[in-house]
Amino acid sequence: MPLNVLLDLDRLHLVARGERHRAALVRVPHPGDAVTMLCGYTDLVEYADRTADFVGIRTCWPCDLAHRRQLRLHVPPTHPGAGRR
Ligand SMILES: [Zn+2]
Repeated sequence: MPLNVLLDLDRLHLVARGERHRAALVRVPHPGDAVTMLCGYTDLVEYADRTADFVGIRTCWPCDLAHRRQLRLHVPPTHPGAGRR
């Protein structure tokens, strides 16, 4: 019986420009694919296998805000992404 690997697309860490973004992925992107994040930033996919490269990354607040709104999660009035667009 084969080993099935389930990847939760919502758990993929999309890091660009020192920030962790979110995207509405419908499949795991291939290297070189262009992905547009919820904040509107688009970049090409490149996989990293070292988590040490991601120490100190920041949250992309516009992506976080869009993600929260999509999931109908609470958005505090002081959310940092509310004033960045
Ligand atoms: Zn973003």
